[in-house]
Amino acid sequence: MREEFLIYGFDFDGTLCIHDYPRIGVPDEEMINIAKTLKNDGHKIIMITNREGKELQEAVLWCSSMGLTFDAVNDNLDEIKKAWGVNTRKIFVNKFVDDRAVHSEAFKLEHGRKGTLTQRIANLKDLVLIQGQDGNWDFDPYMLGMYNGMELALSVMEGRNPVYRNAPEHMKEKLA
Ligand SMILES: [Mg+2]
Repeated sequence: MREEFLIYGFDFDGTLCIHDYPRIGVPDEEMINIAKTLKNDGHKIIMITNREGKELQEAVLWCSSMGLTFDAVNDNLDEIKKAWGVNTRKIFVNKFVDDRAVHSEAFKLEHGRKGTLTQRIANLKDLVLIQGQDGNWDFDPYMLGMYNGMELALSVMEGRNPVYRNAPEHMKEKLA
């Protein structure tokens, strides 16, 4: 066992296979291979699922038929139980992989008090429009650089190529 390892929690339905509960869906081979690679690299993997009884047993057997065996199923690692002296109801993992999971930072972007990501991009677009008005962007090299920097940021957010502006004639004269 390596000294430093991470604990990964994997959901089953919709994560290791296409969601088809109570049946077992088509395997997500890419995900299964990632889990196997992590385990081979010395990390720990836990199956975390709502499945119980017969359905749970079927899922565990299905995984082992694909060469995927877990260090724990719906339970904390023995190492964690021993170290903490308690088996907490929330299973401890370093990373949780679940088709229904949303990262807390992504969740704040969509629901937080600073507005949605879409709203924030719209705010940036307004500022780029103001900076792009004549008398602003073409005032001096600093303001031109500011415009092009803002345009670069907006283009990244919008997933497109930036449309830069070149120095106007009067600025070129000053620079020459
Ligand atoms: Mg799921």
